[in-house]
Amino acid sequence: MKIKLRRVEYMPKDLQPGMLYVAEEFGAAAHLCPCGCGVKIRTPLGPTEWSLRETKRGPTLYPSVGNWQQACQSHYWIEDGEIIWAEKWTPTEIAAGRRREEAHRHAQYDPRRREKRSRLSDWLKWLLGR
Ligand SMILES: [Zn+2]
Repeated sequence: MKIKLRRVEYMPKDLQPGMLYVAEEFGAAAHLCPCGCGVKIRTPLGPTEWSLRETKRGPTLYPSVGNWQQACQSHYWIEDGEIIWAEKWTPTEIAAGRRREEAHRHAQYDPRRREKRSRLSDWLKWLLGR
């Protein structure tokens, strides 16, 4: 599934699916959950929140989006304008999401190495892509 970046001055009330809206001046970004549940997902931009990078193919958001507060519990990456589905959040990850500022530290102690390595490679890709 594709998602396009749309820069706006103010966040519109009604969002279109497949669009990532960014009101840079307010550090605000929002989109509709790509699972189709129609919930509006806000991903504020900032040093301790999400980072946005614009590529030729579309927007990249870092880190992943985990909708653990929503019924669907969707978890995905937005990378180069693509929705990449990730595993659903475990209770441990949900707890980590509640403490977003500790997320990086949590990843270091994550016993599931595969997950840790994929986060690390995502992070490296992110750095190299700059
Ligand atoms: Zn959803």
